[in-house]
Amino acid sequence: MSTNPKSPKKRKTAPRDEDDGDGDERVADRQGNPWYEDGKVTIRAGEVEFRVYGGLLKDRSEILKAELEKKSDRSRMINLRLDDSAEDVSAFLKMIFRPHDYPPDGQDAYFEMASACFRLGRKYQVPAVARFGLFSILRAFSASDYRTFGRGILNPTPRIALEAIALVDSHYLPRIVLPRAYWTVLANMDEMSQDNLSTLPPQHLARLLLTAVPLRTAYLQECLGWCDEDPAQHNRSCSKPDSCMVAKRRIREEGAPAGRHEAYEIYHLKFCDQCESVYHPVFSAGWERLWAKLPRMFGLPEWKELEQEAETVTKVPYNKI
Ligand SMILES: [Zn+2]
Repeated sequence: MSTNPKSPKKRKTAPRDEDDGDGDERVADRQGNPWYEDGKVTIRAGEVEFRVYGGLLKDRSEILKAELEKKSDRSRMINLRLDDSAEDVSAFLKMIFRPHDYPPDGQDAYFEMASACFRLGRKYQVPAVARFGLFSILRAFSASDYRTFGRGILNPTPRIALEAIALVDSHYLPRIVLPRAYWTVLANMDEMSQDNLSTLPPQHLARLLLTAVPLRTAYLQECLGWCDEDPAQHNRSCSKPDSCMVAKRRIREEGAPAGRHEAYEIYHLKFCDQCESVYHPVFSAGWERLWAKLPRMFGLPEWKELEQEAETVTKVPYNKI
């Protein structure tokens, strides 16, 4: 099988191409995905090696094309080393070589994948990949519907909101993601460790800390004022005051810290029909008012302006995304 290249695991003192130049001749620890046995280009990131087809790679990325052509040697494998993480490179290559499989049909992407595609798509100037990442993130942090956090992204967590904030800073992700990301972090402060928060650029952390109290106050006023009314004032047409009063108290106790609106979503199910018809519209209208002024509370432009800014970013030439 002399024509069949050995797998990187078996290769011992692999004669790397003369082009490596970084003195690192150690064998990669792992075979990455994608790995095409008949591919003529190996890409190494960290301790992982990928094997792909040079033609398609050159067609997609001018930057990688230039790199490959510097090392071109028709008879041999071309080895390329990237300074990105193996996870990022895997996501990026999957989107180039198997775009229909990642994410699987009709499913959202993981944030890590979207982020990697956005960053590496920009870095290596592969517009389709960068846009896939950008649009997935923008869907998850959209301005339009305050109940839809996470659409476009699988398993959205508060940690993802932290990463999105950092991306705005480091990679010019449009600022429209910020209000929702800030909100998500503040509403889940109890889950955030010092280490988590220290990943935030200082000006964003300062903005979060400055806004935490005003936001909580606004949330209580706009959305939960009715929870504080005197028990004697409780909805007179209520058909089961005991359970409705408990639900009200739980919404107040669990929802109040920085506006965790899930508390309402959970406990309003305990309301009798009459209470639901009285309190639900009040709560929803409060949410809409608060949502409308959310960007301003964080010192950002209005939603409309943020939307225009995001639209501009999605339209500019890919190498400037
Ligand atoms: Zn009731």
